[in-house]
Amino acid sequence: MTDISTGSSTAVQGNPVATSGARSVADAVPPQLVTRLVSAVVTGDQPTLATSRCPFTGDVLAEIPESSPADVATAFVRARAAQLDWAKRPVRERAAVLLRFHDLVLKHRDELLDLIQVETGKTRAHAFEEVLASAIEARHYGRAGAGYLKPRRRGGVFPVLTQVLELRQPKGVIGQISPWNYPLALFTGDAVPAFVAGNAVVTKPDSQTALTALRARELMIEAGLPAEVWQIVIGDGPVVGPEVVAHADYVSFTGSTRTGRDVAQRAAARLIGASMELGGKNAMLVLADADLDKAAEGAVRACFSSAGQLCISIERLYVASSVADAFLEKFVARTKALKLGNSLAWGADMGSLVSQRQLDTVTRHVEDAVKNGAEVLTGGKPRADVGPLFFEPTILDGVTTESAVCNEETFGPVVSIYRFDDEEEAVARANGTSYGLNSSVWSKNLRHAKAVAARLHTGTVNVNEGYAPAYASVAAPMGGMRDSGIGRRHGSEGILKYTEVQTVAVQRVMQMTPSFGLDDEGYAKLLGKSLGMLKALRFK
Ligand code: NAD
Repeated sequence: MTDISTGSSTAVQGNPVATSGARSVADAVPPQLVTRLVSAVVTGDQPTLATSRCPFTGDVLAEIPESSPADVATAFVRARAAQLDWAKRPVRERAAVLLRFHDLVLKHRDELLDLIQVETGKTRAHAFEEVLASAIEARHYGRAGAGYLKPRRRGGVFPVLTQVLELRQPKGVIGQISPWNYPLALFTGDAVPAFVAGNAVVTKPDSQTALTALRARELMIEAGLPAEVWQIVIGDGPVVGPEVVAHADYVSFTGSTRTGRDVAQRAAARLIGASMELGGKNAMLVLADADLDKAAEGAVRACFSSAGQLCISIERLYVASSVADAFLEKFVARTKALKLGNSLAWGADMGSLVSQRQLDTVTRHVEDAVKNGAEVLTGGKPRADVGPLFFEPTILDGVTTESAVCNEETFGPVVSIYRFDDEEEAVARANGTSYGLNSSVWSKNLRHAKAVAARLHTGTVNVNEGYAPAYASVAAPMGGMRDSGIGRRHGSEGILKYTEVQTVAVQRVMQMTPSFGLDDEGYAKLLGKSLGMLKALRFK
């Protein structure tokens, strides 16, 4: 088993390498832990096995048992049976589970960080963003869930005579499909509102990050969630994913736009709802009056967190020509100084890519851009000396429109610089992709920045930051426009989507038919007069 350390602070080439103490994959993920965790996957007696590897070293992490289509059906049967009792519990009791989960996530922080790191290859600091997000989401729906779900009085057709209540009923069993890039935050974040709303959930996490998901589920059970209410199935996406959609009452999907289209079509054919959190090609605008030091620091965070394998990370950077040289000097210098790290210690600035597929895409995008005339301002190369899947944080200038990196999502540590003379043009170019997930505007004039933000066609816009404030402000919705998705997570949208709305109308005193001796014509006259009166009284 390879030590997850480099023991070196010398830059071999390009970016320096963070030093660390030696800890092995086996230290972080002992075999007994793996055996315990995978025993919760719903499988038959002789499951096929998927091998996950640690991106830092290429070492085998775990053999994860895979669910067959019949196992997925079993998972839904179990979840459906458990959901009935779960939904009968008072909403405050369900919400209390989340508040205990919040505490457990923070208490088990280091163990979760180890798991996230060995499965994704991200730095400890970037893994910590997941712990934070998971706790914040649990706190929010733990505290605010009951308020979102409470019955609401609505105006009846006739004031006083008709009383109307709007109720929120659980959908039933939610099918959740999640990717590898944020295995704690997305896995728990999208499930917790479903639980408060009285649903059971069957989740298919990515096989590469199954251990983090399974440990998070254990903590949720320790917090009081009945185990059968959250079922985990694992397996190849194109095989197990459609089975999840085939049994679910609602689908919560996070992943690529390509897969999202397939999932959405399957959900549509079953007439079930679905939320789609998909890809992006996110833009940052550095306006002429931006604080350039802060913008350069912010750009580093926005482009290279989790090695750019973050749906809301920035891949296109539009800079006002008048400040472009000064901004680039600062941005390039800060990027060159980022320390690559393959250890479980704190201190590294950027980690590994997750898989050979990711490394291939990143390498292809950079090579293609260079072939089409782009200049590499820093980075541009794989770093096998640090780990098999490392790639340097890369800034490209002079990218041409025919290059793949111009419009396609790279999902890696690569950003392209574009200069603009006029803000109209910058907004138009930022809006000029089929995606619409996240964007960022930098300016000292907040009023102006907010006006620019409102013209960007993205589900979230961050002013004077890259991605974190909009994502972490979980009382407000987050998600994508256009090819970046349908529906939202967080806020009221993030929980009400897991409910069926039901209207209960109670009619009193007068029935909805001619009464008090009126014939049809007399009744029609009375109603006509009543409607005129209600309008005059500004009744809604
Ligand atoms: P992916 O679409 O390949 O896989 C996502 C999940 O879907 C995995 O669990 C996978 O096994 C499963 N899957 C694969 N094929 C399937 C099918 N035919 N039917 C059902 N499920 C199937 O995406 P990925 O490469 O794992 O993740 C990266 C992508 O996710 C990027 O495009 C990124 O932008 C996006 N993403 C979006 C958000 C968001 O909130 N908008 C968050 C994280 C990641």
